[in-house]
Amino acid sequence: MTADAPVGVKRLPGYQPDAAAEAVEALFALLGFDRLVRPGMKVTLKPNLLMKRRPEEATTTHPVIVQAVIRALKKRGIAAEDITIADSPGGLYNRAALSGIYAATGMEAAARAEGVRLNDDFTSVEREAPAARVSHIFPVIRPAAEADLLVNICKLKTHCMTGLSGGVKNLFGCIPGLTKPDYHWRYPEKADFGRMLVDLCETVSPAITICDAVEAMEGDGPSSGRKKQVGLLFASEDPHRLDRALAAFTGLPESRVPTLQAAVERGLLPEKGRVGLVGGPLPEIPPFILPKTAASDFSSHVPGFLRGLFKPVVERWFTARPYIGKGCVGCGKCAESCPAHTIAVVNGRAVIEKSRCIRCFCCHEMCPVHVIGIRQNPLLRL
Ligand code: SF4
Ligand code: SF4
Repeated sequence: MTADAPVGVKRLPGYQPDAAAEAVEALFALLGFDRLVRPGMKVTLKPNLLMKRRPEEATTTHPVIVQAVIRALKKRGIAAEDITIADSPGGLYNRAALSGIYAATGMEAAARAEGVRLNDDFTSVEREAPAARVSHIFPVIRPAAEADLLVNICKLKTHCMTGLSGGVKNLFGCIPGLTKPDYHWRYPEKADFGRMLVDLCETVSPAITICDAVEAMEGDGPSSGRKKQVGLLFASEDPHRLDRALAAFTGLPESRVPTLQAAVERGLLPEKGRVGLVGGPLPEIPPFILPKTAASDFSSHVPGFLRGLFKPVVERWFTARPYIGKGCVGCGKCAESCPAHTIAVVNGRAVIEKSRCIRCFCCHEMCPVHVIGIRQNPLLRL
């Protein structure tokens, strides 16, 4: 990552393959990415493949963008057989789970069309994070750990827990399978979770981050929000700067994005300041609808020394919580992803034991039929 790396933006009104290839080429030229790519490199592309969703649902990185990046890499001498598409989505990380996700998200067809590999090695490698603030070692999926060049291809979404799903949050998918809920359990406070994600970002260190914001998601993302037409691709060598640009563009205050706060705390981002955006200007679009959880996050407004005192009051009166709505099919995906093990499927329906819930919203994220809602305290709806 280069200090002061600019963020590039290009218009792309839809997922038309030639237009997407042109936009990615323009970003490579604008940001000088040629100097990062050398023939013979083993390249791993890390899209957001959160779950089994079709590309038009705007939950996962669109395959047309992944194909456009593959074409740009091939033009620069990277052989198709040296390119791997890899991610560890929510839930299990194995061949059976991934084959369904590759097919649904369009990655299987994209890989076949371009002759590149879909990751089928589900082992991981331990990577030390010597300069880490909270997490000094990570298990990292092998293709991300061993790549000469990691290209992070995220999707622009608002996110119930981390405010923003952009460049840094996308790297959480470098941690294998059901190890991910452990990290929610270890770092239940948003600020610490953000610090852990920044430690992970510094460890896997993507060389290039590209954000698919052609069709984004607003509201209760990363999986239950609404599709929003944006028509842009963003890119940078620096995922923190890219996320700062995304937060400003979506209207998310930085105080709601723990990864940005953690990056500032570590000196990876200046405390304040405009992002050097090249390729703009940005179009005027209506502000993003924020997740319901955003309205209830008061912790950032309470001085640090008073937080302990106010915590019980905040948790009792101002905290959003998950609830199981009508239509639960008893699949158990929520229980599988709950780091607090506070969900059980009883008589074919999920039940949450509320007192142990740490409000990570993984259950909400992983429910395939969107029946887990987020209930704000009635005081906040007044
Ligand atoms: S019930 Fe949902 S929000 Fe609560 S700890 Fe479990 S996964 Fe997280
Ligand atoms: S709430 Fe959703 S994820 Fe949980 S068991 Fe029911 S359908 Fe499955």
